[in-house]
Order: sequence, then structure tokens, then C-alpha cells
Amino acid sequence: SVPAAILSALAAAARGGVLFKGGAALETLAEVHSFAFDKTGTLTTGKAEVTGLIALGDEAAFLALLSGIEAQSEHPIAEAIRRHAAERGIIPAPVHDVQAIPSEGITGTDAGGTIWAGNRRLAARMGAQVDGPEFDALRDTAQTVTWLGRGDRLLGAVTVADRPRESSAAGLAALRGEGVGTIRIMTGDRRAVGLRIGAELGFAPDEVMADLLPQDKVRLVGELAGRGKVAFVGDGVNDAAALARADVGIAMGAAGSEVALQAADVALLSDDMGRLAAAHRLARRTRRVIR
Ligand code: ADP
Ligand code: MG
Repeated sequence: SVPAAILSALAAAARGGVLFKGGAALETLAEVHSFAFDKTGTLTTGKAEVTGLIALGDEAAFLALLSGIEAQSEHPIAEAIRRHAAERGIIPAPVHDVQAIPSEGITGTDAGGTIWAGNRRLAARMGAQVDGPEFDALRDTAQTVTWLGRGDRLLGAVTVADRPRESSAAGLAALRGEGVGTIRIMTGDRRAVGLRIGAELGFAPDEVMADLLPQDKVRLVGELAGRGKVAFVGDGVNDAAALARADVGIAMGAAGSEVALQAADVALLSDDMGRLAAAHRLARRTRRVIR
């Protein structure tokens, strides 16, 4: 049976919005040596903001198509684009057969054929050139660039900025203060964006791993596992495999994806990162009591 100390710790954690799927997850959390955090929607708010737009044709038509394809994505970038279009009174264009490509973007079809929205990697896969002089301003930006294209033809791009959750800095500081061995950011976003958010949250450049595909996150979690137990904290479909690979997978429960929640051992229902550090402390204290 489950020791009373663990049951009461699970209950205390739950009151703080940290739900463990079982006592074993709590015991493992006490032993975690490395924490890896996803960026978008985990360390950042998930309420991103469109900050710029370069359309090669008519802006309203561009935004209608972009918001039409993003209407069917649950990614924080998609949410920002939909909100931006709605604020400008744009009606999303109908797009069918929409498919998410984790850590790259989204594809779909309309009467004109294949359309897609996503990062450089997706553009390259679609055979589209993103290096035109129209886009010079985007080359070194520390914001996330989402490209929209039809087949191999580029239609334009928007920049999207996200910012750290208010509680991220304090939550990370608390974890560092507890003497956790290693803390990393693992993001599918561009390095410039990862470095900017990382710098705001006290990460050294070599603690930020960027441009990652879902399988890259899995590999890097595996590398950290060589030094002890690893916790991975994420929100997205793109994080599911890393959450499953980690000794303790921790999903953002409030705005995170269903797939991430299913793969995780712990759900953070509160969006206060301080609760994670508190749960870690509680797990360590509980382990001392039961040993
Ligand atoms: P993170 O790992 O930081 O949470 P993701 O792996 O979710 O980031 O996303 C990585 C990148 O993939 C994003 O920065 C974006 O360029 C692209 N991307 C993913 N989903 C979408 C989408 N629905 N629309 C546009 N771009 C997307
Ligand atoms: Mg994410």
C-alpha cells in the first residue's frame, strides 16, 4: 500500500495545482538531477503576439489564408495569428485536410492546391525560397517567423513574439536554489529566440538547445539521463515523446495539449512555475520522511 506520507504529499501537491499520476512519480521527482524545459507555452505564456507582417501580395488576402490554415492548430503561434486577424476584421479562408507537422508548422489544401504555414524547415521541405530581399528584416530577428506558402511559392511571413510567464524566473531561481544539477531549455524554435528568452530567465547560451525536432528532444533527454534522473516539462504535441522518455514527464495542464498530458506523469494545472519548485521540495522532504 502507499505510505501515508506519500498520500498526504500527493494531496498537498494537488491543492497547489500539481497532479501526480501516482506515488512513484512523486518519489522519482525527489531524485531528479536535471530539468529540461520546453520554451513556447511552457516557460513562455502561450499568449504570443503578432508583431510584424510582410505579405508579397494583398495583406488582407494573406491574413485570411494564414488565419484559415491556423484555425485548425492548437499551437500558441496559431492562436496569436487568429487573434491578430480577428482584430483586423479578417474572415479566415476555408482550408481543408489540415495536418500538423510537429516543430515545423501545418499544411492543408484549398481550391488552389497545397498551402502551408511554418518555419524555415517546412519552407525548405516545400521547396520555397525564404531568402528574398523582401525578407531581409527577418534574417536576424529574435522573434519567431512564420512563413506562409502555396506549394513552392512563398506568400509572405509574420513575426510572432512570446514572453516569459511572470512566474518563470522565480520558479527557475527556486529550482536552482535547491541545487538541481542541470537546467536546460529545449525548444523547436530558432536559436535567436531561444537565446533571448533564455537570457531573460538566467540561462547561459550553452544551456539553450534550439531548432529541435521532437526526436531531438528525446535524444537530448537521453543524454541528460546519463547523469541521473531527468524531468522534462512541456506543453505541446511536439513534447509528447520527450515527456514519455523522461523519468518524470511534467505537462502544462491548463493550456497544454491533450497528447502531452497523456504522455506525462505529472500535470501542472496552475500556470505558476513556482508550484513546480514547491512540488520538487515537497517530494524531497517526503522522501526523507519515508526513508
Ligand atoms: P517549442 O519547442 O518551443 O514549444 P515548437 O516545437 O512547438 O516550439 O515549435 C517550433 C517551431 O515550429 C515554432 O517556432 C514554429 O516556427 C513552428 N510551428 C509549429 N507549429 C506551428 C504552427 N501551427 N504554425 C506555424 N508555425 C508552427
Ligand atoms: Mg511548447
